[in-house]
Amino acid sequence: MKPKTKLQLEVVRMSKELPDEDDKMLSWAKSNVLQHKGYETKNRIICFDCGERFSPNIVIRKRATCPHCGAKLSIEKSRRTTLEQVEFVAFAQVIFDYQVVRYFEIRSHHKSGFQAKYYSCEILQHWIRKDGKRETVARNHTLNYSVDSWNGDMEIRKDYNRWYRSANKYDIYTEHFHPDSKILYKYTMYGIDHNLAGLTFIEAIKIVPSEPRLETMLKAKQYWLLANLSQESYSLSRLWPSIKICIRNRYIVKDAKIWSDYIELLRFFQKDIHNAKYVCPKNLKKEHDRFVAKKRTVQERIKIEEKRSRIEIWEKEFKEKKAHLLGICFESENIKIKTLDSVQEYLEEGDTLHHCVFTNEYFLKQDSICLSARIDEKPIETIELSLSEMKIVQCRGSYNSVTPHHDNIVNLLNNNINVIKSLQRGRERQDSSYVI
Ligand SMILES: [Zn+2]
Repeated sequence: MKPKTKLQLEVVRMSKELPDEDDKMLSWAKSNVLQHKGYETKNRIICFDCGERFSPNIVIRKRATCPHCGAKLSIEKSRRTTLEQVEFVAFAQVIFDYQVVRYFEIRSHHKSGFQAKYYSCEILQHWIRKDGKRETVARNHTLNYSVDSWNGDMEIRKDYNRWYRSANKYDIYTEHFHPDSKILYKYTMYGIDHNLAGLTFIEAIKIVPSEPRLETMLKAKQYWLLANLSQESYSLSRLWPSIKICIRNRYIVKDAKIWSDYIELLRFFQKDIHNAKYVCPKNLKKEHDRFVAKKRTVQERIKIEEKRSRIEIWEKEFKEKKAHLLGICFESENIKIKTLDSVQEYLEEGDTLHHCVFTNEYFLKQDSICLSARIDEKPIETIELSLSEMKIVQCRGSYNSVTPHHDNIVNLLNNNINVIKSLQRGRERQDSSYVI
């Protein structure tokens, strides 16, 4: 758009006078930002700097020096013969009353058999006046689901993008600032320099000075925490006491998500979240996983307790459904098989054999009943019997094991299955006569 205000006119005039820095940015980006790669197959490596091929024999720990052009390459296994790279780099300058941040798009095309081609194009400038007012000079940024490109002239731009309402499309994140960059003390005093943990420069100058805790984190180089918490003041407040402990102990949080999760677990178990012993674990992942497992156990226990408290209600339902199949018992030699005649008995069976006959509410199943196979009144295995098919669904001992008595138990049940069958058929006939 055409400059209209006094500020816009001044910014456009000064922007036109800026020296071209494309070459400077490109030569720096080539050696410091873009990657130098070689793709390796069994027989050859392609150097993506010069396009030549050489033997994989000289690779040491995934690195090699190209014998043709001398480039130091990182080697990857791949059959691909082309490579494209796109990076954004920035150059911060102080021009009269303005902090200026200039952004360049660096592109490179690499192809087997050809020298790599490099391009640099300035795409965006932020002009921030001392009083905080700012203007953006940029090429037109086309940004939608399929396109992300910069073209057209450098002119005053405003973000009118409807697709990405939350993010300004004329704002870019990069951590690659040219080392000649100059940033005003009014920003560096808050720790705002090139390393902004995922915040763009504009975001950083907007939010960091207004939130002293972010400033503290930035200065303490807690970049990963900052990147995760800069937009979440609730989480920041919750975690702040523990973050302070980390900063005091020079403990850098590298996985902010896992660490935040871990602090919540510490809270759950009422551990001291002001104590470095808990807050700064040597092996975060291991401690996190340990507490997750512990919490799972607790949750399961709570669930079981809830179920226990519902026994009385279930007892009634169970008796109505299975009244005709209660009190059945048959014996052979030392083994006795009996129906589980109450929800309480399901509970005791599950507790004794450490399986899920109670916790998974087998007593409520419409189509099956459970029987306990016992020796000297001690449960050995629990049998689930399908009522529609009159077949054993499962028969399991302690911790779902199969015991040496398994075959005898199965035989004993099958030999007596007709008893259950006739009781069940009798009930079904009774039920259908009610329906009629
Ligand atoms: Zn080469």
